[in-house]
Amino acid sequence: MKALLVLLGFAGFGFAQDYDLLLQGGHVVDAKSGLSAVRDVAIKDGKIAAVAAKINASAAFKVVNVSGLYVTPGLIDIHVHVFAGTGERNSYAGDLSVYPDGLTLRNGVTTVVDAGSSGWRNFEDFRTRVIATSKTRVLAFLNIVGAGMRGGRFENNLSDMDSAAASEMALKHKGLIVGIKTAHYNGPEWTPVENAVIAATKANLPVMVDFGENRPQRPLAELLTQKLRAGDIYTHCFSGLRDELDATGRVNPGMIAGRARGVIFDLGHGGGSFALRVAVPAIKERFLPDSFSTDLHIDSMNSGMKDLLNVMSKFLALGLSVDQVIARATWNPAREIRQEQLGNLSVGSPADVAVLRLHTGKYGFTDSYGARLAGTKKFENELTLRDGKVVFDLNGITRPDWEKLPAGYTNLGDRRWDGVTPAAAPRTGRQGTKQ
Ligand SMILES: [Zn+2]
Repeated sequence: MKALLVLLGFAGFGFAQDYDLLLQGGHVVDAKSGLSAVRDVAIKDGKIAAVAAKINASAAFKVVNVSGLYVTPGLIDIHVHVFAGTGERNSYAGDLSVYPDGLTLRNGVTTVVDAGSSGWRNFEDFRTRVIATSKTRVLAFLNIVGAGMRGGRFENNLSDMDSAAASEMALKHKGLIVGIKTAHYNGPEWTPVENAVIAATKANLPVMVDFGENRPQRPLAELLTQKLRAGDIYTHCFSGLRDELDATGRVNPGMIAGRARGVIFDLGHGGGSFALRVAVPAIKERFLPDSFSTDLHIDSMNSGMKDLLNVMSKFLALGLSVDQVIARATWNPAREIRQEQLGNLSVGSPADVAVLRLHTGKYGFTDSYGARLAGTKKFENELTLRDGKVVFDLNGITRPDWEKLPAGYTNLGDRRWDGVTPAAAPRTGRQGTKQ
C-alpha cells in the first residue's frame, strides 16, 4: 500500500504519466474497427495508446477537449502531384506540382501518395527533394515511364516504359513506393498498362491506372475485366471521359464486373476528372468510389476540386453518410496501398489524427466542368496530429489564453505533444487546456 501511495505521489508531480496527450469527448470514426461513437483517445510516444468511453484525464500530460468534433485517423490522399521544386515548366515533375506541407496538414491530411509524377529515372530526386523534407508522410506510385510525368513527349514514349527498371526501383524503396502508375497515354496500344502490371507483379504492388485517351482499341471493360488484377486501382472513376457510364446512362457493366473481381475504384477528382452528371447516376446505382483522392496539383486546387475536405463534403451533399465519407479518406485508401498501419486508430498505430468540425449552412460544390451542387454540410479541419504531435491547430484549441501567461512568455508547448511551438527544453508536470 505504501509503495502504491509513493507511486501515486510521483504521478501527482508529473512523473510517468500514462499518456502524453488525451483527446477528450470527440466523436471517433474508425472504419477499421467499425467504431462511430463518442470516445476519448489517448496517445503515448507517437502511437495510439487507448480508445475508450472514458479515460482518466489525470493519467495524461496534456488534455484537449474535442467534444462536438469528429476524431478520425489522419486523412490519406492516394492521388496527388507533389514533385515540386525542379523548376520544369508544364510538368508534374515540376511546376504543375505543389509542395505537400502547404496543403495537407491544414486539411487534416497526414499521408499523400504522389501518383506517378516521377519514374525510375527521377524518383530518387523526388525522394531527396520532397519525401525526405516534408512533415507530411509522402509515398509514391512510380510511373511506368522512366521520365515520369514530364509531358506528352515523355509520357507517350513506349520505349521508356521499362518494367524491369521500374520494379527494381520499387523494390529498392519498399515502403515508399507503394504502387506503379500508368497515365496520360494517348496511343491505341495496351503496352503502358501491360508493362505497369508486369512491373507491379514483380514488385508485389498494385497498379494505378489513369486510362488516358479513350480508344476503341482498348475499351474500359477490357481493362477492368482482363488487364487489371484484383487490388489494382482505376482512378478518375467518375470522369465520364472513358465510358464510365454506357450509352443508356447506366454504370458501364465493365465497371461492375471489374469491381466484382476486385478492381478498386478511386475518385482522382483533379482538374478535369469529376463530373456530377456521372457521379449522381452512379451513386443512385450504389456504385460508390472505394476511395476519395484529390489529384491535387496547381490547377485542380483552384478549380472544382479545391482540397480533400471539400471533396468529402461534396459526397455528403451527394448523399453519403459521414461514416462512409471518412472511411473513403482513411482506412480504405490505407488498405488499397497496403499500408494497414495507417488510416486507423488501433492501439499501437501511428497517432496520425484529424479533428474535424462539420458545419451546417448553405454551401455549393462544383465539378470539373463548372456545374454546381448545393449542399448543407461542410467539413473544416480543426486539429491535425502527425505521429502524436500537433502539427496544425486552426483555433488554438490546444493553446492557453495569452492573458493568463506570464509577461515575456516564449514557446510554450512540450515536445511530447507539440510539433509547432515546443519549448526548448523538455518540461514535466501536467498541462490542461480549457476550450
Ligand atoms: Zn493525376
